[in-house]
Amino acid sequence: RTVVADRHVDSVCPWCGVGCLTRVAVKDDTIVQVDGRNGPANENRLCVKGRFGHDYIRHPHRLTVPLVRREDAPKRGDITVDPANPWTVFREATWEEALDRAAGGLKRILDAHGPGALAGFGSAKGSNEEAYLFQKLVRQGFGTNNVDHCTRLCHASSVAALMEGVGSAAVSAPFNAALEADCILVIGARPAQNHPVAATYFKQAAKGGATLIVADPRGQDLMRHATHALRFKPGTDVALLNAMLNVIIDERLYDEQYIQGHVDGFTALREKVAAFTPEAIEPVCGIPAETIRTVARTYARAERSIIFWGMGVSQHVHGTDNSRCLIALALITGQIGRPGTGLHPLRGQNNVQGASDAGLIPMVFPDYQSVADDDIRARFEDLWGRPLDPVRGLTVVEIIDAIHEGSIRAMYIMGENPAMSDPDQIHAREALARLEHLVVQDIFLTETAWHADVVLPASAHAEKLGTYTNTNRQVQLGRPAVPLPGKARQDVALIIEIANRLGLGWTYADVGEVYEEMRSVMPSLAHISWERVEREGSVTYPAPADDAPGTEILFAQGYPTKDGRARLVPADLSPPDELPDAEFPLVLTTGRLLEHWHTGSMSRRSSVLDAIEPEAMVAMHPGEIGRRGLAAGEMVRVETRRGTITLRLMADRQVAEGMIFIPFCYGEAPANVLTNPQLDPFGKIPEFKFCAARITPA
Ligand code: SF4
Repeated sequence: RTVVADRHVDSVCPWCGVGCLTRVAVKDDTIVQVDGRNGPANENRLCVKGRFGHDYIRHPHRLTVPLVRREDAPKRGDITVDPANPWTVFREATWEEALDRAAGGLKRILDAHGPGALAGFGSAKGSNEEAYLFQKLVRQGFGTNNVDHCTRLCHASSVAALMEGVGSAAVSAPFNAALEADCILVIGARPAQNHPVAATYFKQAAKGGATLIVADPRGQDLMRHATHALRFKPGTDVALLNAMLNVIIDERLYDEQYIQGHVDGFTALREKVAAFTPEAIEPVCGIPAETIRTVARTYARAERSIIFWGMGVSQHVHGTDNSRCLIALALITGQIGRPGTGLHPLRGQNNVQGASDAGLIPMVFPDYQSVADDDIRARFEDLWGRPLDPVRGLTVVEIIDAIHEGSIRAMYIMGENPAMSDPDQIHAREALARLEHLVVQDIFLTETAWHADVVLPASAHAEKLGTYTNTNRQVQLGRPAVPLPGKARQDVALIIEIANRLGLGWTYADVGEVYEEMRSVMPSLAHISWERVEREGSVTYPAPADDAPGTEILFAQGYPTKDGRARLVPADLSPPDELPDAEFPLVLTTGRLLEHWHTGSMSRRSSVLDAIEPEAMVAMHPGEIGRRGLAAGEMVRVETRRGTITLRLMADRQVAEGMIFIPFCYGEAPANVLTNPQLDPFGKIPEFKFCAARITPA
């Protein structure tokens, strides 16, 4: 169609970690079309979300005035507020009243109970500058490291394993490196749904002759392009991967020279995987022994092999162990540090990489510098002018538990929706309702905001200037295309307002100044100035010099560990936390859809996206449906030990028999009512991908 636009703005897609560059056409201050630009991650391509998911910005539910809770409003965990009519619970306030109340409540709790009574959730959808300021506010202003965001629910276990194994949490190579690979292993990821433009590179590589191995308990579209499709039993990732390691070691397909030069821990790994013969593991994971041998040989013998993984790997109580096995595959075969090789955990949110880099996690300052290290902390204390907490803070699920225990009493939540995204949702909502003071800053009255004392209307992606770091480590510039609606304000401005009401005296002139302060404490950005990002639009970190391109392939010269060597950490077989039994005989797994994003607050309000996938469904294999006397299309109740939801049953052959799948974006049938909050002990990530469930007619 032909669109007559008033102006075009070059920006970046707000949805997933692929980070497609966009050209936004604007007419009458409204986005009328989005096209792909020739960015390093997308080469003019866009998926359905990037192209059509933009009218949420002007949805009638958009928050346009500050709100404060009415004195007579209930604050129960099961409260429901109509975003179109919030006036029974909230009333409009002036900005002065809303900000004074927001900061005043936080200060009152801080003065009465100390820093440990406060916590903050920032956002992986916001910019790097917002993430940096938010974690600085919590650390400098609240005096605690209780700051986290949805990386905890996404790749926290991958980060734990990568930091431990190779000393760096970021990807070692961009996803486009698949085009140079001879063998591509995609495991526990559904890129055709969740990273659609990245998936186009995998398909091209397969078409060009690369061996594509797709391993996932659920069938998926990418398997149509795969040389080997391994639908292993859910929760048996370690068994499958250790069996591949067993083959590689038993058949001496490892790279002895690379191990000697770069890797510690090989003997312990060899001993650990010795019992994981393909024949012993075949009944455990459901993959024939000969297939395990074939894919192990293919991966090890290829000139260049690369691994991609997603939340099917990370969201388990053994998520860190799963990643340890993948890291071991790359390290013992030397399939890392060269073009076409590497390790790439596909990042979910558009800026989950950048928000983590900027320090929006409880253990580390920006660039993963430990809060417990005296020298590092002293440097940040000098910069920020205050003593800082030397103890790591609590993670997302730990904060929810601490509210129930009474130790955390107040929170500031910016752009996150834990009332939908956290596991065991009833427990999470009850926690939010127990808070003595809750400030929510967002663009919609989310399920989390229903529990707030103060709601601050903030900026959508298309309304602000800032940098975002995609899954490829590319720092990219998002530019404002349309003005803020009503009285809404910039997120950066709101964080500064709260900080200054807590006496921090922040005086940032603009977003560029925030970026430059962040860069001064982040060695990874040393040669990527604000001017450079503005000029080039996309720069990969780290860059070796101000005028040199960024480094796409890491670890060519060794690892950023104390001795420059990588470390193998063997993993044992451990079961999921909650196995099916007679009462709850099915395995429930949750995830996303191509058209809907995470908790749905934006994509459910995007007219095209919601028109394509308008209704909550539970997917089940048709054989399983028949065996249980159910009928596709009927309404059913899905129950776990934590709760019940009602939704429509859909027949889906991609779901293995004995399993069900529910997307977690539908507020009317929220999947996380059902999920298990049990945590991986290292990454502290909940087990979203496995719990016991039952299903009955509604
Ligand atoms: Fe946006 Fe991701 Fe789709 Fe690209 S692949 S258009 S970044 S949602």
